[in-house]
Amino acid sequence: MKIAIDGPAASGKTTLGKRLAQALGFLFVPTGAMYRAAALARLRGIPLKDVDINVTEEGRVLLNGEDVTEALASPALDELSSQLAVEGEVRAHLVELQRRIAQGRDVVMEGRDIGTVVLPDAELKIFLWATLEERARRRQREQGGSFEEVLEAIRKRDERDSTRALAPLRPAPDAVFLDTTGKSPDEVLCLVLRLVEERRARLAR
Ligand code: C5P
Repeated sequence: MKIAIDGPAASGKTTLGKRLAQALGFLFVPTGAMYRAAALARLRGIPLKDVDINVTEEGRVLLNGEDVTEALASPALDELSSQLAVEGEVRAHLVELQRRIAQGRDVVMEGRDIGTVVLPDAELKIFLWATLEERARRRQREQGGSFEEVLEAIRKRDERDSTRALAPLRPAPDAVFLDTTGKSPDEVLCLVLRLVEERRARLAR
C-alpha cells in the first residue's frame, strides 16, 4: 500500500508521516528533505547527475551515502530548496529517485506532488492543510525567530510552490482534504488511521 501526503509548508506532513509510517510498519519517505538535500548538494558544488539521495528505515537522509539529516532543517535550506524545486531537471532526477525508493514496498511519502505526479496510483492520498497563521506558529515553535518573519517566509514559499509551472502544489482530485487547524498531532493521526482502515477494507472487497 502506498500513502501520499501533500500540503503546504509546515502543515504537519512530516509529523503525521513519521508517526503513520511507524504505526503501520511502512517506510517513511520525506521528499521535502530530499529537495533540501539536493539544495545542500548544490551548495557543495556537486553536479546534479552525481547526486544520490536515499532514506533509511530509521528516518535518516543520506546524500551520496553521508548522513545529512541534521543539516536539512536549516532555514537557509527552506528557501534554497524551494528555489531549486522549480527546475525541471532537478524535479525529474528526484522523482526518479523517489519512485525507485517506493518500488515494491509499503510507503508513506510526503511532499507537494506525491498524489499528482510521483505516486498517482497511491491507494490513499491526503491533502493536509492548516491556516497560514497556525502553520507559522508551528514553525516558529520549531525554529524560533519573529512570528512575522516566519509567516512571511512561509507565505512566500507557498506562493512559489503553488504557482510554479512544473508539479505545482495542489490536491489530487481523489485526495482527502484534511484541515488540521486546532487539531493535535494525535487527533490527526487517529483520523488518518481510520481512513487507512476504510481504504484497506474497500481494497479487500
Ligand atoms: O516540505 P519541505 O518544506 O521540507 O520542502 C522544501 C521545499 O521542497 C518546498 O518548499 C518545495 O518547494 C520543495 N518540494 C517540492 N516537491 C516535493 C517536496 C518538496 O517541490 N515533493
